[in-house]
This record gives sequence, C-alpha cells and structure tokens, in this order.
Amino acid sequence: MESRIVYMDNNATTMMAPEVVSAMAKAEAQVYGNASSMHTFGRKAAALVEDARGKVAKLLDCNAEEITFTSGASEANNTVFMIAADLIKKGRGSRIVTTTIEHPSIMETVKYLRSLGIHVDQAPVDQEGRVRLDSLKQLLGPDVVLVSVMTGNNETGTIQEIEQISKMAHACGALMHTDATQAIGKIPVSCKKWDLDYLSCSGHKFYGPKGVGVLYAKKGSPFVPFVHGGEQEHGRRAGTYNTTAIYGLGIAAELAEKNIKDEHDRLWEMREHLRKGIIENVPNVVVNGCQEHCLPGTLDVSFPTAEGESILLLLDMYGIAVSTGSACATGSLEPSYVLLAGGLDVELAHGSIRFSLGRYNTMEDVDYVIKVLPPIIKRLRDLSTR
Ligand code: PMP
Repeated sequence: MESRIVYMDNNATTMMAPEVVSAMAKAEAQVYGNASSMHTFGRKAAALVEDARGKVAKLLDCNAEEITFTSGASEANNTVFMIAADLIKKGRGSRIVTTTIEHPSIMETVKYLRSLGIHVDQAPVDQEGRVRLDSLKQLLGPDVVLVSVMTGNNETGTIQEIEQISKMAHACGALMHTDATQAIGKIPVSCKKWDLDYLSCSGHKFYGPKGVGVLYAKKGSPFVPFVHGGEQEHGRRAGTYNTTAIYGLGIAAELAEKNIKDEHDRLWEMREHLRKGIIENVPNVVVNGCQEHCLPGTLDVSFPTAEGESILLLLDMYGIAVSTGSACATGSLEPSYVLLAGGLDVELAHGSIRFSLGRYNTMEDVDYVIKVLPPIIKRLRDLSTR
C-alpha cells in the first residue's frame, strides 16, 4: 500500500497557512518595537496590532474596539467567567448557567468558581449532544448573570442554536457568551446577528499562530481584566503585545473570512466521504454527535470492542494523526465526558476516535484512511477479549 502522511487532528490545532507564515516572518524581521511605545518603532508595531483588530472584527461581524487580544481561547473563557463572578460579587445576580459539554477551560473554571461558593448550573444535552432548549429554559431566571454555551463542540462537532439561546438569555436579563473556537472559519459566526455579549476564539484553530486568541466584548458590556498590570488593550488585558502573533492571527482571519463558504463545502464533502467509507468498510460502528447540525470537518466514531488508544497508535504507524476523546484530556485515560454527557455507554466513549479534517486535507487523504482503517479495526477486534 502507498504510504502517506495524513494530519486529521485539525480540531487539536491547525498548520499555519503559508500566507500567515510569510507575513509573520516579514513582520518579525522588520518590526520589533513595543506596540505601547510612542516612538516610530512602537507606532509601527501598534499599526500591525490594529490591522489585525480590523480583520478579526470583520470576520466576527463586530466593531474593532470590541476586540481584545488574549493568549488564547482558554484565557478568553476564563476572563468571561471572572467577569460574571465579579457581577455576582457586586450583587448583580447570583447564578451562571452553562452546559455539561464545554471545553475544559470552562469546565474547570466552573469547578473553581463553585469552590469559591458561586452557583453554576449546567444544562444537559440530548443523545446527539444538543442542548435541550426546554431544559435550558428551566434553568433560566432573573438571578442569572451569564449564559455560556459553546458554538460547536471540539469532540463531536455538534453545533448549538446560539442565536435562539442568546434570545433566551437576554429575555431573563442575562449576558450571553459563546466559545466559538471550533466554529470560526468553518461556519458563519456573527456577533451582531446572534446578539452576543461575549465570544471567545483562538488563532491556532483557523490556521493562525498558537498562543494568541480573541475575546469579543460588546460595547458597554461589563469587563474586568483577568490579567492585571498594564494599560494594554485599554486596560483590559495586561502584558506586552505579542505583535507578530497578533498580526498573523489577523492574516488568518482575513483568509478565513474570504474562503468560508468554499471551506465549509469542501470539508463537508470530505467528511461525508469519510463517514460513508468507514460505515461501508467497517462493521458495527457508531457515529457520535448530531449529524445534521455539525461542524463540517469533524467526525467522531466509536468502534465497539476496539480500544481508542490502540487505534490511534496503529493509525499513527501508517502516518495518520487523529485523536481519541479530547486532545486536551490526553494523558488521562478517562472516557470522554462530552460523549458520556450525551448518554453514550462508557465502553463506546472509551473507544471513540475523532477525525478532524482541515484546509490542507485532500480526498486522497480520506481514501487512504478508508483503506488503512478497516484492517486495523479487524486486527484489534480479533485480539480483543471483550
Ligand atoms: N475552546 C474550545 C472549544 C477548544 O477546542 C479549545 C482548544 N482545544 C479551547 C477553547 C482552548 O483554546 P486555546 O488553546 O487557545 O487556549
């Protein structure tokens, strides 16, 4: 069999777009001033930051002054929950409502806030991983300060009804946040149309650099900095600007905004080809998450009696990179809490494999996976004692 290198772990991180790499290399070589300095060197660096702010605002359909650059989506998510905690401390309500399937940067923040005595409720999801609007409604009330629901899930790709949820949050006087990290560049995301108060995202999930992200905060919405100690970002986020990375994020945003329709359709076509190819060539597979409302490049599949980690390692021997459960949970052999929240059996949650396709995958990559995977599953099942 021909051998290939196939990277299908784009939900963990993406390769930087060549356009981003070359723009960053040029900026890195030419611009080294501190973007907060008033002299020419500083102003040149500040111009790169502002260029990126405009491009990101266009992608997110908001105003440039509503964008704050952070170290990533984890920091943006933490910031939003700390703003909510601050509001609760000031007596502006007493509860936060989120879900059981958020990214660990929210799940762990919830645990931390609870340890401080803050009340957080988590709305359940149905078997497809969708937040049930009726159960969410039951959790809402005038004491809720913040509703936070992710746009698309990093493991299953399941998309939530953010526009509708935002209306429900506002109807009870709460602020609305969405973690759109996995959705950016794949489906249209609009802060205005969805009437969001806050949104988080991250450069490295849409072919930009790692270690840089975005927090959108609607003009006039409450804000307290999470990182204190400097006047950068109008006092919203201290720390010397990572000018080159921010600039690269802007270039990635511009590319994402330009190609979103083509990118969506191409990813979906490859994803569907992969899904059908697996179902046709491997007996007894379970496709996880919602197949109708789904991020176009994500396919999460369980192979009963074959273990996820063994599948991952054997695929890796053939040059194919995928992940089991969430990459963020790597190191723990716990089954995926996202799949368990949707009611999936523990054994199946243990054996899940996430294929996440991206801009640089081709149909040939998909065909290669469809060829390599069936004998691997057969081999593992023959060895299985279960
Ligand atoms: N939210 C979601 C949905 C994610 O998938 C990730 C990355 N795994 C994050 C937040 C965290 O992003 P970052 O790596 O920029 O902190």
